[in-house]
Amino acid sequence: MVLEPLVQQIKRWGKDLGFQAIGITDLDLGLSEPRLTDWLHKQYHGEMDYMARYGLNRARGEFLLPNALSAIMVRMDYLPESLQLNTPYDNPHQANIARYAHHKDYHKIIRKKLQTLAKKIEAQIGPFGYRAFADSAPILEKPLAIKAGLGFMGKHTNVIHPQGGSWFFLGTLLLDIDLPKDLPFEKNHCGTCTACINVCPTQAIVAPFQLDARRCISYLTIELQGTIPVEFRKAIGNRIYGCDDCQLFCPWNKFAKPTQELGFQSLRGLDHISLLELFAWTESEFLAKTEGSPIRRIGFESWLRNIAIALGNAPTSPMVIQALKEKLDPKKPDSVSPYSSWVREHIEWALLQHTPDYLSAGIV
Ligand code: SF4
Ligand code: SF4
Repeated sequence: MVLEPLVQQIKRWGKDLGFQAIGITDLDLGLSEPRLTDWLHKQYHGEMDYMARYGLNRARGEFLLPNALSAIMVRMDYLPESLQLNTPYDNPHQANIARYAHHKDYHKIIRKKLQTLAKKIEAQIGPFGYRAFADSAPILEKPLAIKAGLGFMGKHTNVIHPQGGSWFFLGTLLLDIDLPKDLPFEKNHCGTCTACINVCPTQAIVAPFQLDARRCISYLTIELQGTIPVEFRKAIGNRIYGCDDCQLFCPWNKFAKPTQELGFQSLRGLDHISLLELFAWTESEFLAKTEGSPIRRIGFESWLRNIAIALGNAPTSPMVIQALKEKLDPKKPDSVSPYSSWVREHIEWALLQHTPDYLSAGIV
């Protein structure tokens, strides 16, 4: 079979499906293995046990698809038009939610498109083995994307393309067909810049290209269950779900373009919403309003925990104090009494930021 025309056809189909870039690579991630081993050894993955569980299999695509020979790597830009590209959410009364979470869950959207791409290939060449995923399987997607020519690794450890910035998702289609490969993206364009390292609120980028996830606000507010260490709570500010800062201040993102994908338009009005409004949601409101969104998977308790920290960091006002106190009052219908003690502890911490004597005075 002559595969070069098929590759060109795959790239046209990929563009038609809405991917901004499509590259093909092999699955040899041997060069990434020492880096992964070192990262795990330093415990930078924190409580993300699934990272350690799969160990070096993350660098071995055959673990996910026996006889896998190629990976089609795709990029899909996600920045909604309504969000100003390079403006921080610096209103401390409002919620700061990572830009990728303002719309429908990207896992499903990208996986579905990759499955459509696989079906098109199948219709052309007959049955073959494949597996599609987007940030949903244990594989090193970023190194694969770089090998497939989709961009370079920034010092913040996200992939960047010089003409497209870094506000994009990656998707992977593994195949047991030996397709012709693209050239890797060789040059790193960070140069002497250290903007992401300097701006990180919790100093999570401990060295260029090294992220200690245990310090990262994305990890703390999304992945970590239970108590967020007190040392990070002030720095979290109003970030209640993830953090964009290292990308926000990256100079390459002035070249980012708004998404063309309808599913990634900001659907929920979460770009300008007050912390108090979100804190007043009941659990059933949370479940209804985050349906189909990646936010839902953190669960209501972590949601309350994160907003409590942000309210602790908000300017002191009678409304903020009242809202926090009411959540601790078992007589109120939507108090946190049915929830875990760690949720309560975060609310108490928030109250202490506004009324340092509230515990001793028995205000609650
Ligand atoms: S996402 Fe935020 S906390 Fe995490 S490394 Fe980037 S700037 Fe730091
Ligand atoms: S902010 Fe600067 S150092 Fe960080 S990823 Fe962007 S270009 Fe590289």
